[in-house]
Amino acid sequence: MNPSTDADRAAELASALAAVRTRLDSAARDAGRDPAEVALITVTKFFPAADAAAVLRAGCADLGESRVQEAGPKTIEVAELLGDDEPAPRWHMLGRIQRNKARAVARWAHSAHSVDSDRLITALGNAAERARDEGERDGALRVLLQVSLDGDPDRGGAPRDQIPALADLVAQTPSLQLRGVMGVPPLGWEPARAFTALAEVHAALRADHPGATELSAGMSADLETAVTHGSTCVRVGTAILGPRPIAFR
Ligand SMILES: *Cc1c(COP(=O)(O)O)cnc(C)c1O
Repeated sequence: MNPSTDADRAAELASALAAVRTRLDSAARDAGRDPAEVALITVTKFFPAADAAAVLRAGCADLGESRVQEAGPKTIEVAELLGDDEPAPRWHMLGRIQRNKARAVARWAHSAHSVDSDRLITALGNAAERARDEGERDGALRVLLQVSLDGDPDRGGAPRDQIPALADLVAQTPSLQLRGVMGVPPLGWEPARAFTALAEVHAALRADHPGATELSAGMSADLETAVTHGSTCVRVGTAILGPRPIAFR
């Protein structure tokens, strides 16, 4: 523990967070949108619990993680760092979820943005129900369906023609709440092309499920483009916390 270094890091994170909020606000205004319509999730994967707590104290209560093995212990560590009078974070699961990790995710996740198969939906539904029965969570697990815009199975997400059936399955599962869609631009695609396609998928989903209002789109490099195309939730890591090790981009 080095108090002055910790304070420096906290100040650095607070100022990076403010800079991202400024980018979001001006992108929203340029698009004729209310900045309050766009939520910011700070993606803390690969960074320590102390950084996550500092981001939370700087005013961002939505935190995102990608790997279950890393996130589970980190959520506990962050809770231990926070005082009783401090707000608790809302943890968002953003990365691939193996079905045998559904139970772990249901313990700590406010929402899961990376849901992409019927078998995973069933596993998460059962896991969230058990977590509720055992007093480990309060409400339903909020679900965003991840859309694969190019159909590449290696990068996660379901092809768009599967989204309606997956959405119906989430809607029929009492312990899950359908919130919307999430997408990442495929390799080699212009972000504008990807976010236009994602917004189309979202509009079709909302026609059947009006409550599915969330469009989770945009990261450090393309958040302005995402906001222009209707994103309600950007997921930002690098622009707030700094670069991750190359092996974990
Ligand atoms: C890591 C990650 C992010 C954050 O990416 P940055 O480019 O660092 O902002 C956003 N979304 C998902 C799904 C991620 O895995």
